[in-house]
Amino acid sequence: MTGTIETTPTPLTAADRCDRCGAQAYVRVLLPVGELLFCAHHAREHAPKYAEVATSVQDETDRLLAEHGAGAGAAR
Ligand SMILES: [Zn+2]
Repeated sequence: MTGTIETTPTPLTAADRCDRCGAQAYVRVLLPVGELLFCAHHAREHAPKYAEVATSVQDETDRLLAEHGAGAGAAR
């Protein structure tokens, strides 16, 4: 018997877009009232704000690095 609570979040796809700029989203922020999607850039920018209210944060920015190289996440 395992005591691990394991959720299977829906992977973000190319159809998921940042709520701020429309770029491909790599972070999904679950809130009590809904969810927000952010690109890597805006996820970092808004992290201090949503971290206070988010019930869960699905961060797939690692995938961004894997798909586009280490430089992509640092691009402004
Ligand atoms: Zn964005």
